[in-house]
Amino acid sequence: MQFADIIGQQKIKNHLINTVKDNRISHAQLFLGNEGNGTLPLALAYAKYIMCLNRGETKACGECSSCRKVDKLQHPDLHFVFPVVKPTGKDKVVSDTFISEWRQFLINNPYGSYNDWLTAIDAGNSQGIIRVDEGREIIRKLNMKSFESEYKVMIIWFPEKMNAETANKLLKLIEEPPSKTLFFLVSENSEYIISTILSRTQLVKVPRISEDELFIGLQKIHNLDENKARQISRLAEGNYNQAKEFIASSVDSLQNFENFTQMMRLSYTGKFIELIKWVDEISRLGREKQKAFLTYSLRMVRENLIINQKLGENSRLTDDEGSFASKFSNFIHPANAPILSMEIDRAYMHISRNANAKVVFLDLCIKLNVALKKQEEK
Ligand SMILES: [Zn+2]
Repeated sequence: MQFADIIGQQKIKNHLINTVKDNRISHAQLFLGNEGNGTLPLALAYAKYIMCLNRGETKACGECSSCRKVDKLQHPDLHFVFPVVKPTGKDKVVSDTFISEWRQFLINNPYGSYNDWLTAIDAGNSQGIIRVDEGREIIRKLNMKSFESEYKVMIIWFPEKMNAETANKLLKLIEEPPSKTLFFLVSENSEYIISTILSRTQLVKVPRISEDELFIGLQKIHNLDENKARQISRLAEGNYNQAKEFIASSVDSLQNFENFTQMMRLSYTGKFIELIKWVDEISRLGREKQKAFLTYSLRMVRENLIINQKLGENSRLTDDEGSFASKFSNFIHPANAPILSMEIDRAYMHISRNANAKVVFLDLCIKLNVALKKQEEK
């Protein structure tokens, strides 16, 4: 993670770079802001810059042994503390219990949220905590001499998830730090951090990413066209994680639309070889996606009935959906719409109960074939 990999936040990057240049790196800093604004990536890029053995004017070299180890999150002087859950049967749980999951998580998604992390470690309904064992672990690590770097850096992600005892141990360390030790606390909500720690850390407030910077970032990282990037950067409120959710849901709705048109076309024409191919494909999607597709299909049947009955505008449809509906709505009428809805609903119920997806979708298509051919009662 280099400063250049982080979307926007130029002012903060300049500030951090200057602290290194002017040799006034504060030993305890609090990166405060939403995860999607880039708090953790900034702390990480800062650490990399500080630890680089061949530092440039504004960036780490990216090639020295230190940069390479930081990239893999395996530098012996770079330590991480983060909330974890207690696996059943384990007594002592510290961050390092989950270090390989953490590395994978952070490398894949440096903007990842607290909830993403809990999902990554299969936390179920448990909340992540920085437990009391961690306090002892922090002291042990920081009492070791630094191995390769001038500084030891400890990044503490979500210090607000520390219990009081651990927080007090950390406070002592921040008050009387071992030499050449840096603490970067990365937090979303400073209200839950004890005030004595807050008053001893220098605040690096990480604001929302500006709309223009997010617009540029989205085009670069996700290859979005200009319109889409503009639209999403407007909706995402300066939060890259939110932008990614919008991108994912628009990809899903496009996929749902394509599957819906295929399912209806193949069911109507009764081309069974193609139909079975399509059923194979949709069966490979996960259950949640299949359920989302069926929910989408229900909505499409309803919208097409509304158009057929001239009960309203098709303004709730996208351009593609609207142009498909201009013809398809002729086939959806009061004599078959309830049957179509009922069959789709039934398929949803079977998928929810883990029935075999191939059987469910093939069965659904046969029912759709009959229903679509049903004549409108005049
Ligand atoms: Zn380097």
